[in-house]
Amino acid sequence: MKNLLIKSVFSIAVLLSLPSIVWAASTVSLVVSPTEVMQGEPVIITIEGTNTLSSIKNISFNGTPLKIFLYQNKPTALLGIDLRQTPGMYKITGKLSDGSILEKILVVDRREKIELPLGIPEKLGGNTPTSQTTLISTLATENAILASLRTGTHAFWREKFRFPLSATTTITDRYGYFRQTGAYTIAHKGTDFRAAEGTNVFAMNRGVVRLAREFRNYGKTIVVDHGLGLMTFYMHLSRIKVNVGELVLPGQLIALSGQTGYAEKPHLHLTVRIGGISIDPIKFTDFFK
Ligand SMILES: [Zn+2]
Repeated sequence: MKNLLIKSVFSIAVLLSLPSIVWAASTVSLVVSPTEVMQGEPVIITIEGTNTLSSIKNISFNGTPLKIFLYQNKPTALLGIDLRQTPGMYKITGKLSDGSILEKILVVDRREKIELPLGIPEKLGGNTPTSQTTLISTLATENAILASLRTGTHAFWREKFRFPLSATTTITDRYGYFRQTGAYTIAHKGTDFRAAEGTNVFAMNRGVVRLAREFRNYGKTIVVDHGLGLMTFYMHLSRIKVNVGELVLPGQLIALSGQTGYAEKPHLHLTVRIGGISIDPIKFTDFFK
């Protein structure tokens, strides 16, 4: 009788555990969010149904492998769609260690091109052809420095990304608009937020300061590296409160906003870069609401 009871308890346990194993194996899935974006927008890709990185061989966009990390216990990859990415349908592929392949289609739509005229401030020479040429050549130098920054080999962050100002504020210049300066058109690859001179600026997440210096055009600038190619840029600051190499915590006061460099009014310019591609910061922060 006792033996029979043990046997039946054992078989109930087997019955209970078996379906859960089958369930787990059959629900590993690739989730692409959103599945349709405009040029210049970010995408978050997760593998649902597993919580280990070792179960994933790679996740790729159009054949290019993406960096994978654990976020909220799920293998996750961030993808930045370039402002000039050809619109169309692209394949996102997840290869699992057991050999299975998961696929989703990402649709990239064309972004409407909006051009706004913008003058060069008097402090940078005003609207003369000479100062326009100087602006373009010095911007190229500054962009090359920003593109050369190294990134950590793992994700430094665990928490959600937060807004860099203490309160939401008016957007004075959107991501993806073009600024016409004389004969030149400059793509605005960030978002400008209205911020009075001296407003506190906070690190959007944990990371390492890779750059803290003044540029002619970007003004006083801080770049925080969150690892695996994810970086946040804070520009036109009036005061920098951190040093290169410093580890900053989520929400740490890192600077005061201002209007240094190519800025006509006090504001905070924010850039979010994924794998070298600057994407719409507003769409990025929407992932963490
Ligand atoms: Zn800006």
